[in-house]
Amino acid sequence: MLPSDEAYELLGLTRELADGELAPRVARFEQQGEFPREVLRTLGRAGLLGLPYPEADGGSGQPYEVYLQVLEVLAGSWLAIAEAVSVHTLSCFPIAAHGSERQRKSLPDMLGGDLLGAYCLSEPQGGSDAAALTTRAVREGEDWVITGTKAWITHGGQADFYNIFCRTGGTGAAGISCVVADAVTPGILPQVPERTMGLRSSPPAQIVFEGARVPADCLVGEEGSGFRIAMQALDAGRLGIAACAVGLAQAAVDYAAGYARERQQFGRAIGEFQGVGFMLADMATQVSAARALMLAAARLKDAGRPFSIEAAKAKLFATDVAMRVTTDAIQVLGGAGYVSDHPVERWFREAKVLQIVEGTNQIQRLVISRSLTRG
Ligand SMILES: Cc1cc2nc3c(=O)[nH]c(=O)nc-3n(C[C@H](O)[C@H](O)[C@H](O)COP(=O)(O)OP(=O)(O)OC[C@H]3O[C@@H](n4cnc5c(N)ncnc54)[C@H](O)[C@@H]3O)c2cc1C
Repeated sequence: MLPSDEAYELLGLTRELADGELAPRVARFEQQGEFPREVLRTLGRAGLLGLPYPEADGGSGQPYEVYLQVLEVLAGSWLAIAEAVSVHTLSCFPIAAHGSERQRKSLPDMLGGDLLGAYCLSEPQGGSDAAALTTRAVREGEDWVITGTKAWITHGGQADFYNIFCRTGGTGAAGISCVVADAVTPGILPQVPERTMGLRSSPPAQIVFEGARVPADCLVGEEGSGFRIAMQALDAGRLGIAACAVGLAQAAVDYAAGYARERQQFGRAIGEFQGVGFMLADMATQVSAARALMLAAARLKDAGRPFSIEAAKAKLFATDVAMRVTTDAIQVLGGAGYVSDHPVERWFREAKVLQIVEGTNQIQRLVISRSLTRG
């Protein structure tokens, strides 16, 4: 489908921001491990933090297909920023889709980027088996009192609000609810950020909940509906991760191709050797296929049709492609690919995380295979 004039302009604006605001900062922020809050504010002011949500709520009312292309451009410049936009967009979902009238009053600040969100599902004892989570919220009078530990939380310690998936009932998925809490709530204790392989400007952190007391009306949706909300958010979020993977992989193809045109060995450009040229051809083809899969799933979502299996396929394929393509990009650069003078070693480190977050690629295979074997 051809982009609308509005989408075309939006993608142009995103490219300008990627070149003008992201590219000049990425190396320094990644090296120093500094969280780019100001850059995210700039993106918020440009309308990029609430793209797929309705204008009536303070979003931009863009089709998911367009939002994913914006993420792709951002990821090609700075993955931590694209991932931050994706996680923030995911974090706005519970209130945008299931929030009460009072909760929805915060949406313009969330979607405008004044309030940064975090999505707290994983725990130290359980990431893949999310339905087994143990963080508990107990009703005491007019409050919920939350106790437990969440792990690997992107924007942990940086976020203004936390979506907390916690147990309010018995075992299993049906005992889980979603509570949204202000980050400054006493008893919400972000821990020291993790020392990560990539995404060093935005490392995740554990969040300890030590009797954190939040008002009863912070429950999002009905009691016991938290797991369903979490999974709905992840279906859409996985497409965001696929878009990050496509953007990262495309950047690696472009960089490696540029290098192969310039680098001379045996008296000619290395790209003229079939071994290198065919590697580039395979890289470019895989990226195109990943993009096509991602956009096909997004179009299903935009049409209001079931898309979760297609989203799982897109996440699985695109992130595996990003890992392969960034590995091959290092090979094309030879020794130069192994040092931080070129961005390909960073892209390689960053690609790895995309195979893990929002459901590992084994979990995506589980989702896809179950749809085939159980119908
Ligand atoms: C940088 C980063 C950011 C993150 N951000 C967030 C966030 O913002 N919010 C959040 O809630 N979580 C976040 N996560 C957590 C992430 O979603 C989990 O790491 C992921 O879901 C895997 O869980 P786990 O690490 O506990 O691994 P485990 O569940 O312990 O899995 C370990 C291995 O076993 C495999 N495995 C597990 N079960 C099965 C099975 N049934 N079949 C086949 N293989 C299986 C997995 O695929 C994996 O290879 C983040 C993680 C990272 C690294």
